[in-house]
Amino acid sequence: MAAFHPNRQSFSSHWLAFTSNRRFHQQPKMVSHAEGIYYYTPDGHQLYDSLSGLWCTPLGHGNKGIAAAINTQMGQLDYAPAFNVSHPQAFELADKLAEMAPGALNHVLFCNSGSEAADTALKLARAYWRAKGRPEKSKFIGRSKGYHGVNFGGISVGGIGGNRKIYGQTLDAYHLPHTWLPENRFSKGLPEQGEHLADALLAILEVQDPSNIAAVMVEPMAGSGGVIIPSAGYLKRLRALCDQHDILLIFDEVITGFGRMGTMFGADYFDVQPDILTCAKALTNGVMPMGAVLASSEIYDCLMNQPGDDYLIEFPHGYTYSAHPLACAAALASLNQLQQPGLLNNVADLAKVFEQAIHELKGLPLVEDIRNIGLAGAIQLTMDAKQPLRHASEISALCWKKGVYVRFGGNNLSFAPPFVCEPEDIREIFARVAEALSDYARTIG
Ligand code: PLP
Repeated sequence: MAAFHPNRQSFSSHWLAFTSNRRFHQQPKMVSHAEGIYYYTPDGHQLYDSLSGLWCTPLGHGNKGIAAAINTQMGQLDYAPAFNVSHPQAFELADKLAEMAPGALNHVLFCNSGSEAADTALKLARAYWRAKGRPEKSKFIGRSKGYHGVNFGGISVGGIGGNRKIYGQTLDAYHLPHTWLPENRFSKGLPEQGEHLADALLAILEVQDPSNIAAVMVEPMAGSGGVIIPSAGYLKRLRALCDQHDILLIFDEVITGFGRMGTMFGADYFDVQPDILTCAKALTNGVMPMGAVLASSEIYDCLMNQPGDDYLIEFPHGYTYSAHPLACAAALASLNQLQQPGLLNNVADLAKVFEQAIHELKGLPLVEDIRNIGLAGAIQLTMDAKQPLRHASEISALCWKKGVYVRFGGNNLSFAPPFVCEPEDIREIFARVAEALSDYARTIG
């Protein structure tokens, strides 16, 4: 096999995830190291990391505390099975998550990604209703533009058509409308309109009947769909309707978990209690793959009290790498840092700078909406009629040249800078993005 050379021009073997590989081959982008809020290319070009990797490294790259924790763990216990055996860090981490989580989500299952967390949560919801003697409650309700990863459960409940259309049969799932409304364009923070959109649940229930529905699963704020923020009362309304109709409410907090909105969880921000909460990404600051599913005592107790002998496996589910010791060590170190007094206040302070800086791009060519909440935001672009992804892709490529890594998804440019940015970094990121937008607009006339 050819040795890796940083300037290699042949990219023959690596099939990139969620990428136009054809396009990548024309414009390959590579980073070879990272430090703090920056990535560096093999030839030394410095890039602001404007999305904290993929929304997952809020504490910055090369975090010394996390590195030290992983090293220590490596010297003690590098791997342990999670089936019938466990280890102290897994218990410590589960206790910490239960303590940090909103309300009484006291029981924690570990997995290795947000996608696994989503599918684990959906299986748990079905298992719960079966244990309660109501196996017909098996269908799910998600939301248009929702993203819950790429496994079969996640793409079924997820509401991004492009992620499911080539895969055939999915699970029985129905979808609420997304919460983007034209009248909310350029809202700062929470939009005013849209609480009524939760009532669309009633129309689905009228046809499907609550007796067949296991759970509603939504992100408190749709991240990958383009930072689409519901109005203040929307999730409260959804919670009330789920209660009225005996339906579980699952929050996918893979992006909103651990401070992104300025509160520890999105559930705290909206003051709404889910029955199940999924998280991943910032749980380990992106350093080790890990996800977690937090469930209420009602769900746990119901599964534990199923009839059966003492050898019954109450929830036959888990992964070789569930509660991996190195991931647990990384998570404990990350959460300790995220819990430092003042950290979330700092996020809230930076969020004000972020809000001002991102909204300064209003009025630039192609910009049709700007949204922000906490340290997350998106710039929505008009679509090219023939090649819908063209503008966002080309502007992201120009940003790269100007020293900012910007992710595009659909016609949105998304931003979620690290919590360890200075206000000046945030202003600089958007100044460069503004330049890229203007330069690009000139090229297309
Ligand atoms: N859920 C949400 C809300 C996400 O944003 C993501 C990833 O972006 C996932 C699930 C899937 O996570 P992973 O890519 O770790 O499988």
